[in-house]
Amino acid sequence: MPEPLLYESHCHTVLCKHATGTTAEYAERAEARGLKGIIFTCHCPLPGLGPNRTRMDPEQYEDYVALVAATREAFAGRVDVRLGLESDYYPGVEPWLEKLHARHPLNHVLGSVHTQVPEYRARFFHGDWFEYQKLYFQHLAEAAETGLYDTLAHPDLVKNESPADWDFARIRPHIERALDRIAATGVAMELNTSGLHKALPEINPSPAMLGLMRARGIPVVLGADAHVPERVAADYAGALRTLQGVGYTEVNFFLERKRRTVPIAEALASLK
Ligand SMILES: [Zn+2]
Ligand SMILES: [Zn+2]
Repeated sequence: MPEPLLYESHCHTVLCKHATGTTAEYAERAEARGLKGIIFTCHCPLPGLGPNRTRMDPEQYEDYVALVAATREAFAGRVDVRLGLESDYYPGVEPWLEKLHARHPLNHVLGSVHTQVPEYRARFFHGDWFEYQKLYFQHLAEAAETGLYDTLAHPDLVKNESPADWDFARIRPHIERALDRIAATGVAMELNTSGLHKALPEINPSPAMLGLMRARGIPVVLGADAHVPERVAADYAGALRTLQGVGYTEVNFFLERKRRTVPIAEALASLK
């Protein structure tokens, strides 16, 4: 029997108000899929974003840390349960996140530019989808350059905003410029399988963009972005084969904010 190797590096809890299931159910699913562990990366609290409809309130952060710690204890010896965070990036949020990330030791910090969040859209969308897409990739590169994040999450998410206005060939030079900047920082990028269920049903990023990342040696972290327990490690085997298809031989995850690398062939053999 192959040993468990992989982690779920991106999943949520009920505290973000748009995920369901207990943390124990997520951990059980990780165990059933043959994973070594699971890193909870719920949506970070943010200041001044109104009623925090899709994230925990700032005063709930300690509850989140305690919830993950209790789950870790309950699953000791079965699944390695870890604390992480999915932190939004937009210009100006850096001081808040510096303080937040320092409050408790984190294992994996995802950096996300969430173009669908109303407050982000109100500030940055001015009626032209292509301009919005360009700005998204600029913000992604800026996020990498802040040094606040281990991995950039679902790094072509903006394609779901108006799928009819997504033209890869047209946006490609802007993606390449962003990837050059990201590659220079050493920050990893995510292959997120939840894109298969989004408006433009395709992994994030697309295989074409993964090829551009591969050409620059950007390390990839796999995540299902589970908001329900059933989606923990969902579509991992297909995603690993897609990575192989563009030339990757290794896949990564973060523990204690240090990148760990495993061969894709071994990762595939370890999954149930
Ligand atoms: Zn979410
Ligand atoms: Zn997420």
